[in-house]
Amino acid sequence: MPKLKLRRFDVITIFPEVIAPYAEASILGRAQKNGLISIVAHNLRDWAMDKHHKVDDSPYGGGPGMVMKIEPFDGAVRAVRVVRGKKTRVIVTSASGKPFTQQDAIRLAKYDQVIFLCGRYEGIDARVEEKIADESFSIGNYVLTGGELPALVMIDAIARNVPGVLGAKESLAQESHGEEGLLEYPQYTKPEVYKKWSVPEVLLSGDHKKIEEWRKGKQRENKTPAV
Ligand code: SAM
Repeated sequence: MPKLKLRRFDVITIFPEVIAPYAEASILGRAQKNGLISIVAHNLRDWAMDKHHKVDDSPYGGGPGMVMKIEPFDGAVRAVRVVRGKKTRVIVTSASGKPFTQQDAIRLAKYDQVIFLCGRYEGIDARVEEKIADESFSIGNYVLTGGELPALVMIDAIARNVPGVLGAKESLAQESHGEEGLLEYPQYTKPEVYKKWSVPEVLLSGDHKKIEEWRKGKQRENKTPAV
């Protein structure tokens, strides 16, 4: 078998400690141990320009709260970007970014390195999105306190599409949000009856053709909701 390439994910944040507990568990943790992916969190303050490690300042034009400064993000991206020639994508997390989809996850799994920039407070100086990042993504129409959960959500969805990350038991086949835009059919497991709630009879029939038709029908009933 040809050696699979390592995909690297870098998260730039003022709370690097929140990344590892999720990134080291379950499938992502196993994929890191197996050398398929690497997830590294960096403290944005390491690239602050002053002795107090300040990474935010008041907004030009006035208004409440603080805005995260451009210089630390610029320094961090320059430092963590891997050597020239590798395919790297820089993504800024933003409540006003474009909606992140399964198609983005599949596409980004082909990059050697994906760098995530996490905002806090009122967000990040807009020049980071305009001049430094390649793309800006939102994970949903709501506002979170920071970009760390969005970065983890996107890493999880991307990493599942890196060859070898899902084991034999887990599968990408017939999942929701595939190319045809269909959602997955409902799945059931033992017991056959629980509190008078039964599994659909067709699934117990052993008739694979009928089961296939039933599943296709259920998928057609389930349309991908608009984000
Ligand atoms: N003032 C900003 C606005 O109204 O859009 C919200 C800033 S939010 C409190 C702080 C940071 O959390 C953002 O810079 C971004 O990194 C992250 N964030 C919040 N909600 C997000 C979402 N739905 N998707 C992606 N990132 C989000």
